[in-house]
Amino acid sequence: MLFQHEVGRGYAGCVDLELLEQTLADRGEPSFRARQVWGWAARGAGGYAEMTNVPAALRDTLAAEVPFSSLSLAEEARSADGTVKALFRTADGHPVEAVLMRYRDGRRSVCVSSQSGCPLTCTFCATGAMQFGRNLKPWEILDQVLHFRRLEPVDHLVFMGMGEPLLNVDHVLAAARLLPELGITHRRTTISTVGWLPALRRFVDEVEEPIRLALSLHAADPGLRSRLMPVNDRYPLPDVLAECRRYFELRHRKVFVEYVLLGGVNDSPQHARELAALLDPKIFKVNLIPYNPTGRYEGSSRDTIAPFKHVLDRARVPATVRLTRGRDIAAACGQLAATRRHITA
Ligand code: SF4
Repeated sequence: MLFQHEVGRGYAGCVDLELLEQTLADRGEPSFRARQVWGWAARGAGGYAEMTNVPAALRDTLAAEVPFSSLSLAEEARSADGTVKALFRTADGHPVEAVLMRYRDGRRSVCVSSQSGCPLTCTFCATGAMQFGRNLKPWEILDQVLHFRRLEPVDHLVFMGMGEPLLNVDHVLAAARLLPELGITHRRTTISTVGWLPALRRFVDEVEEPIRLALSLHAADPGLRSRLMPVNDRYPLPDVLAECRRYFELRHRKVFVEYVLLGGVNDSPQHARELAALLDPKIFKVNLIPYNPTGRYEGSSRDTIAPFKHVLDRARVPATVRLTRGRDIAAACGQLAATRRHITA
């Protein structure tokens, strides 16, 4: 399909592009029409009717034959802190969640899903406990962003929603390459991985755009990390950290380390010392994430988080405690599980 040939050169659609292209081809329309449609969508158009440089009859045809979004909105919840969580369905019925986070300094950051569910089974993660559906198409990823783009301009994006992005690396990169057209630069785009090594190597070697890398680490001790994240048995941390080092050496950009603090599990000063010993302060910057309980684990108290961070500070490992957003609507890290119970506003 045209999409597969063109996506690497920055050409794609807000809609199911394969269907769009087929519809245009069946009508003998020129190939630039798909780009016209995409341009409108990327700028936040609400539907085909707004596309004034597309002939009216064609707009009517597209409206009848090609759904404007590849996702349908099932539920939307709004947090007291301004966070918005959306639950979508793909055309074949798979649930997908995305979150818009609004910050006081004006940043508008979207957390998107790369898969419906996740085949990995990190024990602290609500997504890992749900049934895996499938990888999302590039336009299903972009449509999560465009949903919020129609509410207001957005300028940051993290691949930290449902799914392991590097298990769907081609579609994730195809979507990421188009984000600047939506107002999100590559420098403000972050792909987060648990350390899926084959695709991480490709990401380090092949991706030229300055897209940021984040590593979900959560425990420095191999045994504990394997208990929290079974993927650690398949791709051990030293190999993953070596790839992160290569990323830093090639790009001169620090790697974010995500560390979810689980009460009584990985949040003691000894755990912090192990983490500090593992991380080169030149290469890594740690985000400490207070855990949002999903049943199996407790969150860490403030009295535990402060000494943990103090250990990192003393070791001069840069670390911040992430502001938790959307906890009251189950939109915070580790809570995405497409449950109507959570998403009812
Ligand atoms: S933390 Fe990420 S990789 Fe692990 S189960 Fe959840 S979504 Fe999958």
